[in-house]
Parts: sequence; C-alpha cells; structure tokens
Amino acid sequence: MPDCIFCQIIRGEIPCRKIYEDADIFAFHDIHPQQPVHFMIIPKQHIATLYDANESHQAVLGKVLAKAGELARIAGLDDGFRTIINTGRVGGQEVYHLHIHILGGPDPVGPMVRR
Ligand code: 5GP
Ligand code: ZN
Repeated sequence: MPDCIFCQIIRGEIPCRKIYEDADIFAFHDIHPQQPVHFMIIPKQHIATLYDANESHQAVLGKVLAKAGELARIAGLDDGFRTIINTGRVGGQEVYHLHIHILGGPDPVGPMVRR
C-alpha cells in the first residue's frame, strides 16, 4: 500500500517518534496524543482493518498484542493502560492500517465509551 501513511512511516518516508521495531511489527508515538502516554503498535504487513484480518494474520497480530505489556512497562504504565482498536466508519477509524492504541498516564483514562 504505497500511499498508506503508516506504511510510509514504517519505510521511514514520514518521520515518527519510533519506540520499537522488529521484522514484523513497529511501534511509535501518536502525533496527537490523547493521554500523557499514547503510542501505537502496528503490523508491518498492511492489513487495513480488524474486519479484514483473518487466520493468516494470526502470528503477526499475536506479536502486536504480545509486545504491548513490555512497551507499556518501558513507558512507565505500571498502573495499567487502555488498549483500543478502532475499526471502520462506525469504530471511528481514521488510518486504514490496523493499529492498536496504547493510552495511559498517571490518572485513569475514564469510561470505555462516551455515553
Ligand atoms: P484511528 O482513529 O485510525 O484509530 O487512529 C489513527 C491515529 O493515528 C490518530 O490517533 C492520529 O493522531 C494518528 N496519526 C495520524 N497521522 C499520523 C502521523 O503522520 N504520525 C503519527 N505518529 N500519528 C498519526
Ligand atoms: Zn499500510
């Protein structure tokens, strides 16, 4: 996906504050943080949404999730954090490259959804 903004970040064509990278996954700070700590973990493989994911993506999505605790620990989120995956129009997804948000800070993040 050459014009996908997150694919461009992975390729280093758009700068970011990188947290972690290996052969399969990439993590970086959100450009508009909504909590004192707000970063995203993404698969390097372009998967547009969680709706599009299937069993062939099991290993890389497992890696994305399995890395969350370690990266949160490094970020100092020892009292917990919120993980969010927005999907599609109804889910409020803005960037169509599957990503998991990690949000936290000293205070509780608040209700899961606005009522
Ligand atoms: P979504 O709404 O799709 O779940 O979240 C997309 C997130 O990507 C938003 O929180 C937005 O601030 C972030 N974002 C959009 N463009 C960029 C960018 O160029 N760099 C970084 N680091 N984050 C971005
Ligand atoms: Zn992409």
